[in-house]
Amino acid sequence: MPGHSYLRLGIHMKPLMVAFDVAGTTVADGGVVIESFSQAFKRTQPELWETKSETLMAYALETMGQSKIAVFTHLIGDVQQAEIANVAFEQAYLEEVESNGVASIPGAEETFEFLKSHAIHIVLTTGFSRPTLDVILKSLNWQSRISLSVTPAEAGRGRPFPDMLVKAASDLLVLDHANTIVVGDTVADIQAGLTFGASRVIGVLSGAHTNEMFIDAHATSVINSVADLPSLI
Ligand SMILES: [Mg+2]
Repeated sequence: MPGHSYLRLGIHMKPLMVAFDVAGTTVADGGVVIESFSQAFKRTQPELWETKSETLMAYALETMGQSKIAVFTHLIGDVQQAEIANVAFEQAYLEEVESNGVASIPGAEETFEFLKSHAIHIVLTTGFSRPTLDVILKSLNWQSRISLSVTPAEAGRGRPFPDMLVKAASDLLVLDHANTIVVGDTVADIQAGLTFGASRVIGVLSGAHTNEMFIDAHATSVINSVADLPSLI
C-alpha cells in the first residue's frame, strides 16, 4: 500500500527539532538534583523529613524529570509550603553549582554541533525554574548554541505533560510533531515526548532512570548518552 511506504519515509526524514532534557541528559547531574531535594526538605520541612525521609526521596527519584514545584506540592500537600521548599531546592542546587561548577554530559556539545550543521533546531526543556536554568546555560555558554529553552511555568505544565514541547514546536513553527525527536533521562521525558507525538522518543542512561524503566515507558530507543544520538539521525 503506497500509504505505508510514504509513512515509513516520513519517519526517516531528517527531524526539524530535537528536544533535550537538561539535568542527567545534556548536563551532568552526579546526584546534585537528588541531594538538593534532601537539602530542601531538611531546611524547610524538618518534621516531615524526620519521619518520612525515605518515602520522600523514593518519590523524588521516581518522579525525576517532572516539574520540581509539582513534586513538592504532591509531597507536602500545601502550595505555599511547596513554593518555599522549591526556593530552598533551587538555592541548594545553585550553591552546588557555585562551588563545583556545571559540566556538560561528554559528547553533548559535539551532538549540538552535529545538529546545527544539519540545520536541526536544538531545544532544551527542564524541571528547573528560569533563573536556575539561566545560571546553567550561562555557565556552559550555551545560549547561542541552542534554538531555545523552555521551563514549566513558561509553557503551562511541566513533564510528564507535553506543554514545553508544544510551546517549543509552536515558537519554532514546527507544525508536524512527528518530525521531531525527544531525548531525556527519565520516564517523565518519555511520557511527555509520546504525548507530544514525536516520532522518536529516546531514553539516555546518563541520568536518573534505567533501561528497564524506559522500555516499560515505551521509549522508541535507549542509548547510553546524547553522544550516541548523531548515529541515529
Ligand atoms: Mg533529567
